[in-house]
Amino acid sequence: MDVSFWNREIETADRSSLEALQIQRLKEVVSYALKTSFYQKRLSKVGIGSPEDIKSLNDLKKIPFSVKDDLRQNYPKGMLAVDMEKVVRVHSSSGTTGIPTVIYYTREDVGRWTDLLSRGIIATGATAKDIFQNMMSYGLFTGGLGMHYGAERVGMTVIPVGGGNTQRQLQIMRDFRTTVLHITPSYLLHIHQCMPEYNIKPRDLFLKKAYLGAEPYSEPTRLKLQELYGIDIYNSYGLSEMNGPGVAFECVYKNDLHVWEDGYIVEIINPTTGEILPDGEKGEVVLTNLIRHALPLIRYRTRDLAFIHTEPCPCGRTHRRISRILGRTDDMLIINGVNVFPSQIEEVLMSIPEVGTNYMIHLATREGLDRLTVKVELYQKLFTGDLSQLDSLKGRIKDKLRASITINAHIELHEPGFLPAFEGKGKRVVDERQKL
Ligand code: ADP
Ligand code: ZN
Repeated sequence: MDVSFWNREIETADRSSLEALQIQRLKEVVSYALKTSFYQKRLSKVGIGSPEDIKSLNDLKKIPFSVKDDLRQNYPKGMLAVDMEKVVRVHSSSGTTGIPTVIYYTREDVGRWTDLLSRGIIATGATAKDIFQNMMSYGLFTGGLGMHYGAERVGMTVIPVGGGNTQRQLQIMRDFRTTVLHITPSYLLHIHQCMPEYNIKPRDLFLKKAYLGAEPYSEPTRLKLQELYGIDIYNSYGLSEMNGPGVAFECVYKNDLHVWEDGYIVEIINPTTGEILPDGEKGEVVLTNLIRHALPLIRYRTRDLAFIHTEPCPCGRTHRRISRILGRTDDMLIINGVNVFPSQIEEVLMSIPEVGTNYMIHLATREGLDRLTVKVELYQKLFTGDLSQLDSLKGRIKDKLRASITINAHIELHEPGFLPAFEGKGKRVVDERQKL
């Protein structure tokens, strides 16, 4: 396999030089953090009054976690560590789970962030010759502009379409011979379903790769999309609090995501006790941003669940890999007492070949109990009028779901286009249960 680097020296640095760089950058971040009253209070409580109090990476563990509410309570500028004059960019989270949070960047912050994105792009084997269609929405969301800068720095031809308007997206893909897409899994699933309407087939296009992120998706979804489009799909992870995309990226081996450890310190904790877990154990991802000075965030609880791989990657990069995001601590559903992540349901559905590209999860209360209905769109070709075939498929989906989540779900089968479509992050769970 061809392996290319954006910055070979840093990407393959040995552990001790990587850690030396982490400590140096952590000190810088702490010096900025101490300019905010929020961190002054927080750090002085644990005996950190100057960057020199950070002697080793162990000292990081003394610092309490930060959470989304810290950012909300300090809205809009309470955690800003530089003069507004130095700020060149403002972004905000998409607010999937409530009031958005605001992030500030200096020119140098944007530069360092951009560099990590270029690194991710090169790690997937893309080059300056590629035509890059950015289908993440631009604006306050970091997925648009963030990746745009990274792709431009690589020298790719960047087409900044943003999200939505599927017909136009397809036309551009065909006419400009787009080779690389940046898009959410939900939207890429949806586009495939729209292709017949616009009389375009994947083989009329020139696509080679797609970077998929901004929401969880399972390996069966990746495999399905790779097959439907005939392309390679790479996982890209980030969150606005950690600048945006570019925290972790898959390399050509597509075996989960290298966290750029000169940019972020990654820890995995038990989400209930806060205890740090050893590599290999699943828990909540905690990240320290080492490259942003305008708004320092130290030990930020992402609410995303993953584990750290212990095996090195054959690409030669030394930056450790995290698994795909297995769910968010705040998207777990409790259905009649059983804990279920929507991603478990997705994984089952997408591994059944007859299931098409869209589904919804619906919860209601019936006779005092939770009732789970899974609504699934099938490929058009399956609606032949043979009802017994559909019935047996229903049974198969139900059995597979029960085996995975131990819950009896009601299954509804629908024709393509029946369920709501998503052109950005999907919102697939509708919870209409009566609250006690
Ligand atoms: P939010 O959705 O919290 O309002 P963001 O727009 O910053 O804010 O989205 C970041 C979140 O998106 C991450 O915390 C994570 O839950 C999800 N996410 C981003 N990339 C991925 C990915 N590759 N796989 C799974 N989830 C992802
Ligand atoms: Zn690798």
